[in-house]
Amino acid sequence: MKICIDPGHSGPFEPGACAGGFNEADINWYIAKFAMAELKYRGHQALLTRGKKIDNDELAFRAECANEWQADLFISIHCNSAARIEADGTETYYYPGSRWGEQLARCIQFCMTDAMLTEDRGVKTADFQVLRETLCPAVLVECGFLSNPLDREMLTDSLEQWRMGAAIAVAVEDFQKIRKKFNPLAFADE
Ligand SMILES: [Zn+2]
Repeated sequence: MKICIDPGHSGPFEPGACAGGFNEADINWYIAKFAMAELKYRGHQALLTRGKKIDNDELAFRAECANEWQADLFISIHCNSAARIEADGTETYYYPGSRWGEQLARCIQFCMTDAMLTEDRGVKTADFQVLRETLCPAVLVECGFLSNPLDREMLTDSLEQWRMGAAIAVAVEDFQKIRKKFNPLAFADE
């Protein structure tokens, strides 16, 4: 399969959530790199929507990247943040009404919370631009809360970043198995 991975935000220009001297854009990037490596190791093609640091805070190019490449799946990687530091855990979003988006979100939510033992905040719908404008099943995963000290420890540790990337790759394979059951002609060339 062809999986387009979108590290949320864009580096110093638009860092996303910031806490404890860390910024979300960098963390998203490392998790995305590990997810890409794990997917390639499993024989998939993977593409990142951005380089490590870019001067672009727009969103349109992310879905365009997936659409032009004719990706089978789109996965946007983010970290959450809240004023209440107790808020923690993982949640995954899909576009309302997208059946396969919901299935992919469920696979990712399960694999992430299972591997990382984070609080399971569930699968949710949202009208995010990156989900709305992508032509393939698309999800946005909020891996954990950068504003929560325990989640932050996980998010900023490179071994844990690799484990999150691996969980995403395992979720993609789970999704592929489920999808093949429903439509044997899908992904018939693999
Ligand atoms: Zn974000």
